[in-house]
Amino acid sequence: MMGADVLDAATWTSLPFHFWTVVFGVFGAIVGSFLNVCIHRMPRGESLVSPPSHCPRCGTAIRWYQNLPILSWVWLRGRCGHCGERISARYVMVELLTAMTFALLWVLHGAAGPWVPLAFCLFGAGLIVATFVDIEHLIIPDEITLGGAAAGIVLSVLAPGMHGESYVWPSLKASLIGAAIGSGLVFGILELGKLLLGRQRFRLPSGARLVFTETEIHLPDRVLPYEDVFYRVSDALVFHASRLELLDRCYENVTVRLRLRAGRMQIGEEELDPATVPWMEAMTDEVTVPREAMGFGDVKFMAMIGAFTGWQGVIFALMGSSVSALAISALLTAAGKREWSARIPYGPYLAGSALAWILGAQGWFVRWMMPGV
Ligand SMILES: [Zn+2]
Repeated sequence: MMGADVLDAATWTSLPFHFWTVVFGVFGAIVGSFLNVCIHRMPRGESLVSPPSHCPRCGTAIRWYQNLPILSWVWLRGRCGHCGERISARYVMVELLTAMTFALLWVLHGAAGPWVPLAFCLFGAGLIVATFVDIEHLIIPDEITLGGAAAGIVLSVLAPGMHGESYVWPSLKASLIGAAIGSGLVFGILELGKLLLGRQRFRLPSGARLVFTETEIHLPDRVLPYEDVFYRVSDALVFHASRLELLDRCYENVTVRLRLRAGRMQIGEEELDPATVPWMEAMTDEVTVPREAMGFGDVKFMAMIGAFTGWQGVIFALMGSSVSALAISALLTAAGKREWSARIPYGPYLAGSALAWILGAQGWFVRWMMPGV
């Protein structure tokens, strides 16, 4: 097979269809191994190429034969080959998930050649990275969301079949409209949410005491763990204190602004690192707690989803994510783990629904919305 022939659909059809299913699966496992590097390094702002993979405990460089996707993890029974440190099961999960996703994308979209499945593989890879980074760090990197939106628009030109079109213009239009409607809808929901639900405001009896410990806020009638209050870097808790006591000092009539995830606290004009304040007591009569299921990262994330799926995929992702978020929350509540559901960000639900869309949900959803077509 000569290089240029790879571009020719005839080359692909000269080999059995499921030969390529296996190729996509193996390719997915290798890409999954790279996605693990992205998931670990992107939110930390580290280079994706250097240094080469090494054990986080003993620092030993991982040799190529210890770095075979899936196989090495099974062979070494999930441990470092040098020091025996346990390696997180997340690594093998991401590799398996990517391998299965790529193989399935070929099976579902490969009939007309490799371009549409390859474009969706890139999309699927971005969704997988976004999911795992969001769960751990509560952010989705701009490289994924904005980079993904740009990639989706470019690929809609190269592979119009992605949007079920044969020509460039209708496909590009579908991608641009999808990106605009996706980000616009989520932005609208965010703004509307602020308007209707506002920030959650607790009115307290005049001169009530708020006590801030290292893990939670004690209100007169309830305890709020910090992880239920601060989801995102931008989440701020604001209140006016008639009197505020720290371990070593005390203030009167100050406004306090606490952004725990950003590591910032403002007392009046003064900036403090909240990590240096293990205990604080305030007298106040009202406290405003941020409560937003989605953040601005999800606006950018939906631009990416729309660029690859068009507006129909955006509607599906919104519906699918809210249904699955409710279902998971109900399951966790039934299992007595309600506090877990508060910690799951919204991004993974959007990603899961978008993945379901390219893995077959598109077909039945379009038939359900437009039964006559
Ligand atoms: Zn080691």
